[in-house]
Amino acid sequence: FAALKSTRGVDVYDPQSDPHRPERLALMSELRAAIDADALELWFQPKLHLADGRVHAAEALVRWHRPGRGMVPPEQFIAVAEETGNIGRLTRWVLAHGIAHAAELAHAGYGVRVSLNLSARDIGDPGLPDRVAELLQAHGVPASAIALEVTESAVIGEPEAALQVLRRLADMGIEMAIDDFGVGQTSFAYLRRLPVKELKIDKMFVQHLAHDPTDRTIVRSLVELGHRLGYRVTAEGAEDAETVAFLGDVGCDDVQGYHVGRPTDFASFVAHLSTRESGGA
Ligand code: C2E
Ligand code: MG
Ligand code: MG
Ligand code: MG
Repeated sequence: FAALKSTRGVDVYDPQSDPHRPERLALMSELRAAIDADALELWFQPKLHLADGRVHAAEALVRWHRPGRGMVPPEQFIAVAEETGNIGRLTRWVLAHGIAHAAELAHAGYGVRVSLNLSARDIGDPGLPDRVAELLQAHGVPASAIALEVTESAVIGEPEAALQVLRRLADMGIEMAIDDFGVGQTSFAYLRRLPVKELKIDKMFVQHLAHDPTDRTIVRSLVELGHRLGYRVTAEGAEDAETVAFLGDVGCDDVQGYHVGRPTDFASFVAHLSTRESGGA
């Protein structure tokens, strides 16, 4: 509690002496510089369609090689970017580069849709749909070249504003997914109003299911519930063959996870796709 200064016997929060503040400020100004200098990367993780064993989609995951600090995981800097009002800048970078990569894949004829992650704050931004439309047009690709993932929490804060943004994106023909499904607090009353086609079951329930009967019950039930409500269901975090086999048995549509493929840089991802195309994998 170094940040608590005693003034006339009353404890007052003093941001200047908050031990975390300098570190967060440095992180943020470095992140802003990294965005401006294009020092971020999008890595790609394949999504396996179980019905035909093919990869029709991939998720783009942002990476930041912070000089002197190695690879900073997105969960660290995205939270800070959200809290400091910098997420819009990051999301614009992700959309611009994600759609550029999606266009590259589309023009090369791979037929691989790129999923991009939005953060909770983005869904409240009424300028988002136009920005996405402009980028798609600039790169000459249809809305089907991308998909957008939003977490359950994204739509809790300002439900009506978020709904409008999501509806406009859906009207443009962009498919949306609820990410990390099962760990949030979306009520089904609300979920059913969202223009969403896909549920992505959080890896928390998937990672250990081969050894955990409770997780198997949860995943089986979520797949069935999702299907009955008309959603496509994806599981993330499948780390072994047993888990992928179980997901196939319970009728899950798509699988992501280390067993299918780890996130890699774009060049490696494309190289891998080419091998698969020619029957190599
Ligand atoms: P997410 O969207 O749920 O992405 C899945 C995370 O699970 C990724 O972590 C991925 O690398 C990891 N993962 C995939 N397969 C496995 C597996 O088999 N086992 C395990 N243990 N993990 C697996 P990552 O890349 O560290 O990203 C973490 C989160 O950061 C993402 O979760 C997403 O919420 C957020 N994020 C990533 N990129 C972006 C972005 O461009 N914009 C925004 N707003 N958020 C992003
Ligand atoms: Mg995601
Ligand atoms: Mg997820
Ligand atoms: Mg997650």
